[in-house]
Amino acid sequence: MKITAAETIVTSPGRNFVTLRITTEDGITGLGDATLNGRELSVDSYLRDHVVPLLIGRDAGRIEDTWQYLYRGAYWRRGPVTMAAIAAVDMALWDIKAKAAGMPLYQLLGGASRTGALAYGHASGRDTPELFDSIRAHLDAGYRAIRIQTGIPGLDSVYGVAASAAGGGERYDYEPARPTAVPVEETWDTRAYLRHIPTVFEAVRAEFGPELPLLHDGHHRMTPIQAAKLGKALEPYDLFWLEDATPGEDQTALRLIRQHTTTPLAIGEVFNHVHDYTTLLSERLIDYVRSAVTHTGGVTAMKKLLDLAAVYGVKSGMHGPTDISPVGQAAALHLDLAIHNFGIQEYMRHSADTLEVFRTSYRFENGLLHPSDTPGLGVTLDDTAAARFPYQQAYLPVNRLTDGTVHDW
Ligand SMILES: [Mg+2]
Repeated sequence: MKITAAETIVTSPGRNFVTLRITTEDGITGLGDATLNGRELSVDSYLRDHVVPLLIGRDAGRIEDTWQYLYRGAYWRRGPVTMAAIAAVDMALWDIKAKAAGMPLYQLLGGASRTGALAYGHASGRDTPELFDSIRAHLDAGYRAIRIQTGIPGLDSVYGVAASAAGGGERYDYEPARPTAVPVEETWDTRAYLRHIPTVFEAVRAEFGPELPLLHDGHHRMTPIQAAKLGKALEPYDLFWLEDATPGEDQTALRLIRQHTTTPLAIGEVFNHVHDYTTLLSERLIDYVRSAVTHTGGVTAMKKLLDLAAVYGVKSGMHGPTDISPVGQAAALHLDLAIHNFGIQEYMRHSADTLEVFRTSYRFENGLLHPSDTPGLGVTLDDTAAARFPYQQAYLPVNRLTDGTVHDW
């Protein structure tokens, strides 16, 4: 089953996506997601200039060998651009192998371990009444677990908070990348955040009761001792997890947080390799692995990472915002269904324009996601629709403290 063609498709149906399509001599095509929010064209170039020429003529069935060839063969290892490019190749080859077998990918990964993957949605509000409306809208949409992000008094624009309220037919999910020539700059005050967040969770628990799983993302903005303080303050509200408490590069920061709080911890959306996790897993410093299939080298690498996590009793909580394309999301759903140590799956629904370009077969029912039984990943790409949405330069925001110092966004 030789590879005869490989091409990238860059499209922007509301936001930018980079997709790799591999075609075999018998006409089977596979799709891989290579989207790296704010740096999309770098991965596109990496694939077109350095990877696609190596794929032509290779055996599409040799997935592990191709992964090692691209990873070890480049000499320069790891990094978000490299690992997103390898991920796209890996996903596309698994898509092809599963289509050739006439099976959904999860069957090749060992078959279903559950009936569906518990998904969490993103509720947010500029203030508590708006947040409550957003939580109710998510409950009405069927979500059984909800991430809570809210405005902070005194700050204009806060990570994770949609700019407008639900209703009026307007899309209200939070979309941080903005189509500007330079990044938008936001202002941040960690002490104001630390004062406010526990009061929000107290109000949410008082309104919605003790059962609903609640999550929160600190977006890498706290020092270890600040994160420890927040984790302790949130203990009465029984969070499902506190995510990205401290900057992602610093694995040992989680030691200090762990010493002080029983609030479960999740991290890893900016990681791209199993070696980013070795301390976190071996010392049991986290409860959930947040990596994306798209950014961690694909299905092959993610399966190995999750198997290592299982050894230490750590569960999955794969990244799934709208900057993961429906192809990357489908790959995560097949893993979610197959692995034993599944925890939860992030799920922000894509826009209507995105779903016109990427035709999905996965479904969301009663709070659970299922990848469908369509052979392969179960996603197709409509080239005509994709061509209607050309690439648009967009950046994630940059964050500054109130005195102007650049801070983690
Ligand atoms: Mg996060």
